[in-house]
Amino acid sequence: MPFSELGLSEKVVQAVAASGYTEPTPIQAQAIPHVLARRDVLGIAQTGTGKTAAFTLPMLTLLETGRARARMPRTLILEPTRELAAQVEESFDRYGANHRLSVALLIGGMSFGDQDIKITRGVDVLIATPGRLLDHFERGKLLLTGVELLVIDEADRMLDMGFIPDIERIVKLVPFTRQTLFFSATMPPEIQKLADAFLHNPVRIEVSRPASSPTTIVQSLVASPREPHGKREILRNLLRKAPDFKNAIIFCNRKSEVAVLHKSLHRHRFSAAALHGDMDQRARMAALESFRNGDVSLLVASDVAARGLDIPAVSHVFNYDVPHHP
Ligand code: AMP
Repeated sequence: MPFSELGLSEKVVQAVAASGYTEPTPIQAQAIPHVLARRDVLGIAQTGTGKTAAFTLPMLTLLETGRARARMPRTLILEPTRELAAQVEESFDRYGANHRLSVALLIGGMSFGDQDIKITRGVDVLIATPGRLLDHFERGKLLLTGVELLVIDEADRMLDMGFIPDIERIVKLVPFTRQTLFFSATMPPEIQKLADAFLHNPVRIEVSRPASSPTTIVQSLVASPREPHGKREILRNLLRKAPDFKNAIIFCNRKSEVAVLHKSLHRHRFSAAALHGDMDQRARMAALESFRNGDVSLLVASDVAARGLDIPAVSHVFNYDVPHHP
């Protein structure tokens, strides 16, 4: 089924065509008509399935009628990490190219001032991480009583990161009559309970996971000594000798390990950037961008980067430590 038959507005259909997509993905085909019909949606889908467009496209269509009021955002999207929030903003920029909507990003590590100015003027779409959203709310600069549509994205990741109490607080601040879209890659009992509490008679849409890992990916296990010098040397040898090596993300379990390994790789003349949750937002964005555009070939990262990043053409991924959540 083509995009033009899902009920999206002409402007949105044009923006989609301009971005080169010809066919909706299964989650898009199944969710978009229900979102447009103002139904609540429970989407069980992970990143890579096209779920971001499954909510941004119909939201753009719905937002074409009505106007934003000062300090009262019309829609709210909650994301677990700053990087995912920024990716959703990019998606609004791309698909909303033909709209004149105001989109604001409320994430930690950026100044309150600029964010306040935008909110005061009125925003159509507010994309936020839960902690920063509550900070703004407590400062009295933000009213959530005008929210018509709420998106809770990556709910199981929110659970892992300890954000559920914040989410429960935020849901109490938005109107009961709102429309809610709730996405999670998995549905453990805690998440099912939240979905039951937040959603009214939802349409349940489940898209299959991309078959565990694509057959084009070769996986190997490398034995290493416990001793850090030896382990780093093994990594360097792999980086030098890996066949068809172009670039790599190297995951460590601890922020301190990210810093140590990053420094060591630099000392050995590898071009590497580091990414972990204690860095300020500008530095995090800059690290990601330098890896995305090829300025550096290695990204040493904690699990802030472990899910949902959309970086095309990464040739290698190293789990430098055995991950807590493989
Ligand atoms: P997401 O699951 O939302 O992170 O999207 C994963 C990737 O799929 C992103 O790079 C999108 O730009 C891309 N994408 C989303 N929808 C489509 C579509 N209908 N056709 C082709 N690519 C798409």
